[in-house]
Amino acid sequence: MVEPPRFDSVEEAQKYLRSQGVGYVLAQFVDIHGVAKAKSVPVAHLGTVLREGAGFAGFAICGVGIEPHGPDFMAVGDLSTVSLVPWQPGLARIVCEGHVEGQPWPFDSRVLLKRQVARLAQRGLTMFTGLEPEFSLLRRNDDGSIGPCDPSDTLAKPCYDYKGLSRTRAFLERLSGALRASGIDVYQIDHEDANGQFELNYTYTDCLTSCDHFIFFKMAASEIANELGLVCSFMPKPFSNRPGNGMHMHLSLGDGKRNLFADKNDPQGLELSPMAYHFLGGLLAHAPALTALCAPTVNSYKRLVVGRSLTGATWAPAYISYGDNNRSTMVRVPRGRLELRLPDGACNPYLATAAVIAAGLDGIERELDPGAPQNVNLYEWSEAQLKEAGIGLLPQNLGAALDALERDEVVCTALGPLAGEFLKLKRMEWLEYMRHVSDWEIKTYLEFF
Ligand code: GLU
Ligand code: MG
Repeated sequence: MVEPPRFDSVEEAQKYLRSQGVGYVLAQFVDIHGVAKAKSVPVAHLGTVLREGAGFAGFAICGVGIEPHGPDFMAVGDLSTVSLVPWQPGLARIVCEGHVEGQPWPFDSRVLLKRQVARLAQRGLTMFTGLEPEFSLLRRNDDGSIGPCDPSDTLAKPCYDYKGLSRTRAFLERLSGALRASGIDVYQIDHEDANGQFELNYTYTDCLTSCDHFIFFKMAASEIANELGLVCSFMPKPFSNRPGNGMHMHLSLGDGKRNLFADKNDPQGLELSPMAYHFLGGLLAHAPALTALCAPTVNSYKRLVVGRSLTGATWAPAYISYGDNNRSTMVRVPRGRLELRLPDGACNPYLATAAVIAAGLDGIERELDPGAPQNVNLYEWSEAQLKEAGIGLLPQNLGAALDALERDEVVCTALGPLAGEFLKLKRMEWLEYMRHVSDWEIKTYLEFF
């Protein structure tokens, strides 16, 4: 892996970029959906991006709360994030945050996450996350349908398949190489449990940088696929009978010296500290509201289902629960840290992480008890068993998740003015979907009655 360059001044960065043959820098930020937006800036003008920022018409960006007659949204670069864009030599990227009239703009999801990170810092805490991108690598067929990029990828149970991995090397190694050349340490690549589905894992880091890395990952994956005539999709559930695309979030809190979630003396044997259990209590208490941010599309709820896929499991959570190394629960405990399995590939990682911090801190402050771990296959439990164990169901559609978010004061407070904006945009999306007449309805009802 190439160590990411670090600079003390814009001149140093410009010197480095020129030595690497870079002519342009992408001043990049994300909209409310976590979709990358950018302007291309000649290296000579990098200083402007760092000082006043690159200017954008705010009303043209989804969810930043600016009207057509409002001020510009200025994308101000963070010098510590400069990296090469190895899949497009001659280009670099700088992560920006939104400023309006000289101040950080509270509708920008990166600004919002930084506020939650600051709340942790006031308590001497840093949150580390490892975000695990799953994605579908697809090809558009001549008849307009979509299928796995490799037509021989047809196994009923394709997880970890050697042939599937081998036949996609051209894409996977180009992607991994690009990430490693830009300072992201990819350490494992596998074929996942749906045809055409893969996952690349790279090293965890502080939660803000993890979000920057996740966006960069999506930028790299979609563009490298496009160059090869393929489609890389992070859609949560592209095929109804196959597992969907998650973005599991591995979590821990540190104090600069050690992992405060780890405790070998845990009487429950999960090697978690009391602080980790309280944080977990917060995640479970706020799970319905977190769902709206972690699973923010209509399609997300086709992933979070109670039911089996063709391979035998969806591997996605349906219940508000946690367990030891249990992949049927919402939070898995891989010892000494938590794995939140709720988020999917469509979430805005900055928003999801900000909401997770708010929920976890609430758990710590109120010393919430997450109850006992579930170490059983919850997919096989009956409704009666779940009820007896007091295990709730996650919201089963976007509308229900938005209702839960609206009721959750802790999470809404953390989102600030973005909560209203998110609810407004997402309610429009839900309504549009509800009013749409689908192929399934035509097939089922057209001539039935
Ligand atoms: N694809 C599954 C999901 O949607 C996760 C599979 C895994 O555990 O890696 O969450
Ligand atoms: Mg996976």
